[in-house]
Amino acid sequence: MQISCASEAAPGQVNEDYAICGPNWAAVLDGATAPRGVDSGCIHNIPWLVHQLAATLSTKMLLDEAFPLTDMLAAAIEDTCSAHANTCDLQNPDSPSTTVSIIRISSDTLEYLTLGDSPLALWRPDNQITALKDDRTDHLPGGRPYTVELVRSLRNKPGGFWVASTEPKAAYHAVTGNVPLTPGIEVGLFTDGATRLIDVYGYDWAGFFASLRDLGPAGVINRVRDAERNKPHPYGKRYDDATVVHVSDIARPQRT
Ligand SMILES: [Zn+2]
Repeated sequence: MQISCASEAAPGQVNEDYAICGPNWAAVLDGATAPRGVDSGCIHNIPWLVHQLAATLSTKMLLDEAFPLTDMLAAAIEDTCSAHANTCDLQNPDSPSTTVSIIRISSDTLEYLTLGDSPLALWRPDNQITALKDDRTDHLPGGRPYTVELVRSLRNKPGGFWVASTEPKAAYHAVTGNVPLTPGIEVGLFTDGATRLIDVYGYDWAGFFASLRDLGPAGVINRVRDAERNKPHPYGKRYDDATVVHVSDIARPQRT
């Protein structure tokens, strides 16, 4: 199996995305940029939360291989809470948060979990692509642009949207599933700063994945930066952190 990745901050900014991988798994995280002037109740910045969660998740992925991905993420959120419960107000509804998307390849199955808007995509040799998205933030009441108050009232609430922050049970609201490991299958994990090539800049999934296979993760991010320079995003940030993970050469394990 080959796992390649690239993660790049928006120009001049600190990268709030992160990517991690192990021998048979990979994950991407996209920390939510705090709205200006909002008191999060947390003394830490977004990268701290993202790195803390990534580190605890990584440990669990390596040591608790058989656990369901949802349990793994819930435990990682819980450990992350413990890491700042003594210094920060974890009841604050604006406490830092992040998306988390994970894939794990075990036996003849690919398992996935996606919480928040960091999409996954499966590519098969007949060029069939399956996009797996948690798109609840695309459908909040009233449509975009969303107010800070609206987002706060719907975060980690039934009927709203779920992210990794201070609520371990959010993990059980992730979009999850598994698919058989068919020959030649490949997987991509992305933050929305990368998939804005599709959401905003006219790519379809087939074109996006073709670029990924031709150019690799860093090449795709270069395409994103070119597009952002040429045409401002209609409602979002001009530039966004962008992360791409590509999992290929997924050999079907030998049965014994
Ligand atoms: Zn904190």
